[in-house]
Amino acid sequence: MLFKKKKYERKILLQKDVLDSILSFCKIKHPNEGILILKGKSKNGEIKINGLVIPPFSETGPTFAGFPHSFLPFDMSYIGIVHSHPSGSAEPSVTDLHNFFGLISLIVKSPYDDDSIFAWDSNGNTVPLSII
Ligand SMILES: [Zn+2]
Repeated sequence: MLFKKKKYERKILLQKDVLDSILSFCKIKHPNEGILILKGKSKNGEIKINGLVIPPFSETGPTFAGFPHSFLPFDMSYIGIVHSHPSGSAEPSVTDLHNFFGLISLIVKSPYDDDSIFAWDSNGNTVPLSII
């Protein structure tokens, strides 16, 4: 008997208007980091991001951005976070991986243009990102 497990390639679809909101939010926060919660849906490995939420009680500085997860209401549409790296590196830091929230983490590096955004999973691997 042949038993084959279906494996889905992970990918992320990001709505253009959401991208624009993320980029302008990060520009306003510069030189501090900005952080936002991503809203969306995940199906068969495909993660579609269609909205943003400003986290309550968020704290940000030039090298950190965070918020207490315990203040978040339980909401299945919260699928990850996006935060900015004013330093210009899109690599997740050790702290970022420790504070991983949800399914996906987006990092926007300075100068916050359309090519400055990258997606990571909880192991620190890149995930392909398409703008729709
Ligand atoms: Zn970071």
